[in-house]
Amino acid sequence: MKALLIEDTLTSATLVSHQLRKIGIEPIVARNGETGIELYQQERPDLILLDIIMPGMDGFEVARRIRQLEQFGEWTPIIFLTARTSDADLERAISVGGDDYLIKPVSGTVLAAKVRAMQRIAQMRFSLLVLTRKLDDANQELIRLSSLDGLTGIANRRQFDETLLREWRRLGRQGRPLSMLLCDVDCFKQFNDSYGHQVGDECLKAVARTLKDTLRRPADQVARYGGEEFAAILPDTEITGALQVAEAMRSAVEGLSITHSYSKGGNVVTISIGVASTTPLRSGSDSSVLLKRADDALYRAKQAGRNRIAAAVVSAID
Ligand code: GH3
Ligand code: MG
Ligand code: MG
Ligand code: MG
Repeated sequence: MKALLIEDTLTSATLVSHQLRKIGIEPIVARNGETGIELYQQERPDLILLDIIMPGMDGFEVARRIRQLEQFGEWTPIIFLTARTSDADLERAISVGGDDYLIKPVSGTVLAAKVRAMQRIAQMRFSLLVLTRKLDDANQELIRLSSLDGLTGIANRRQFDETLLREWRRLGRQGRPLSMLLCDVDCFKQFNDSYGHQVGDECLKAVARTLKDTLRRPADQVARYGGEEFAAILPDTEITGALQVAEAMRSAVEGLSITHSYSKGGNVVTISIGVASTTPLRSGSDSSVLLKRADDALYRAKQAGRNRIAAAVVSAID
């Protein structure tokens, strides 16, 4: 433990230093307030013992300045050591930031007990800080987890809805385009029924990873939208770009070559994709039109035989 003793009188400084050494603390000694503050800044002690009457800056002022110098969340116990005995002095000592007040000459036993009490408070405070940090970390992790899909680890629907709302407003303000992709695994019920639900889950994980890997721009996002449905949002992307991404996704999933002997899309797992693009004209307008049109397009892709893409361009939505 590091203790800083700020005391101008040599005899008192020597006595208190001696008492501190007896309880295993080697004090750092300053003989005036200015030096005390400098040493505080250099050494960041765990405890300060502070005289009040000193030439130049007095102990009240030293305490006040030290409290100002402390960083957010930092706290160094300050015990005043003084010959002054009035209630008013004690009150002032506490109000400028002191934590305790000892009348000189201080007995070694009382000093040792006070130091121990301060150590205990400092320790408790430290534990509290550690706990707060852990809580913060846990909260961050919770926030992260609450935005992810448990099975596939990609964004969940909640995060997708948030992203869509945010991008819709942003692009609306800027008059820039936005594309939406709805991907649905073909004949997936049959896949589950034939190969089992567990294999189905593994398949969904592989599809999710593949869709995610297909996206290149940092602002693009793919989410698990429902059971075997995935949705991607491509900000700043017109229909031509969106179709390229959709085709890359479609062929990448086909390229996984996951056997599906009962699919109408082929003999491997495939997806159908509905694409819709628009430019939201005004913040405040509604993205549900775009979702609806992507869903209609997806339906057409299914009708047309699956393992394919259908698209709709929605005229600028005002
Ligand atoms: P379509 O080609 O028209 O999309 O046919 P489909 O069979 O894929 O469509 P349908 O909506 O009838 O079936 C979706 C199936 O997806 C139902 C369910 O068995 C399966 N499914 C949904 N969520 C999960 C999941 O989390 N894990 C697994 N293993 N299967 C799921
Ligand atoms: Mg003095
Ligand atoms: Mg479906
Ligand atoms: Mg399906």
